[in-house]
Amino acid sequence: MFCDRFSSQLGSKLLEVNYVNLYAPPVDEQDPRATRTGINVFMFPTWFLAQVKETWYDTKTKKTFRTRPLLPWGNLVSGQYLNSEKKKVPVVPVRFVQACVKGHISDIHWYAFVHNDSENKCRGQLCLDEGGSGNDFAEIYVHCECKKRRPLADATVRNGKVLVPCQGHRPWLGSFAQQPFCIRESTGLPEYNRLLVRSASNAYFSQILSVISLPDSDAALQKAVNSVYEDFLKKITTLEQLTLVKSLMSKVATNLEGFSNEVVWQEIQRRQNGQVNQHKSIKQVEIETLLSSPVVVGEDIPEGDFYARARDVSSLKPKFASCIERIVLVHRLREVIAQVGFTRFEAEMPDIDGELDISVRRAALDIETTWVPAIENKGEGVFIAFRKEVIEDWLK
Ligand SMILES: [Zn+2]
Repeated sequence: MFCDRFSSQLGSKLLEVNYVNLYAPPVDEQDPRATRTGINVFMFPTWFLAQVKETWYDTKTKKTFRTRPLLPWGNLVSGQYLNSEKKKVPVVPVRFVQACVKGHISDIHWYAFVHNDSENKCRGQLCLDEGGSGNDFAEIYVHCECKKRRPLADATVRNGKVLVPCQGHRPWLGSFAQQPFCIRESTGLPEYNRLLVRSASNAYFSQILSVISLPDSDAALQKAVNSVYEDFLKKITTLEQLTLVKSLMSKVATNLEGFSNEVVWQEIQRRQNGQVNQHKSIKQVEIETLLSSPVVVGEDIPEGDFYARARDVSSLKPKFASCIERIVLVHRLREVIAQVGFTRFEAEMPDIDGELDISVRRAALDIETTWVPAIENKGEGVFIAFRKEVIEDWLK
């Protein structure tokens, strides 16, 4: 999939690479003889619960708990738990893990947690005791053979620093993808892990960006302004002067045809301020294109990416004409949506300009991103631009 706006704007800035490819999901191969495809995955978490059917009665609280052995991968035999009668019991991956706000994720140091001591050497058999429906942290305990027992609720205390500082693990990229220890920028102190239920909705928020495929009106505008800038536009200081110059100089009017006075004036100001190659936000470019486009943009062809026609607003009823500046009927539109990363605990949405904060705590999709997964949406739409005075009036 090709979208130059993505590659140039996002590739370099957001993902810190020169160019990024966009790949659509592969089509499922129906041919049974086709070579098998797929992706490699890494095992995570590496702690498991043995599916035994045992309960444990707490004489203090007079409550019955379901109790299951909690085991690291290394203690399994052929991927199963060997019980005291040497029978193999199936296991399931534990649903509790630890993660930091930068997206790093790792297994909870269960021995350190249950003994409330990171230096503790006890390696007794651990068990997870679940009371009630198993959803209330206050009724979930971890206990060790040595009789130590601790509620999982201890790990849910905000800023409780119960789980260890984040060591930058990225198991989704493999064991060699570990980053340096996490430091919270605002304090310069270690970033602590938080308890995360790996199947919960806050475990993964994909971060996506969307742009509309547009003919590069910016390039067209710059070319048009270039053609008359030195001779006629360089010394202009107000929008009114530009209007006057356009009415007096037919060359200026001809060369700038199709562009509104406002966008030409903005381009002149940009040049006068020395901001020739200033970065424009995604939405700014989209709005400028729709505001400044000639009456017809693009071609009405099958599979076309963009085709729009401006409606003549002079024929509108006075009631509408007084507040509407422009109506563009977009008959063909292609929106490209790409995933650029993800966050945990909280979703991070693009701002009003369609941009993502580059300082945001985004977890990377790859060690070195050369491509991102993307899809395209084809559709149509109507763009209505209200007069500035009207909006200012509304906001009063
Ligand atoms: Zn971290």
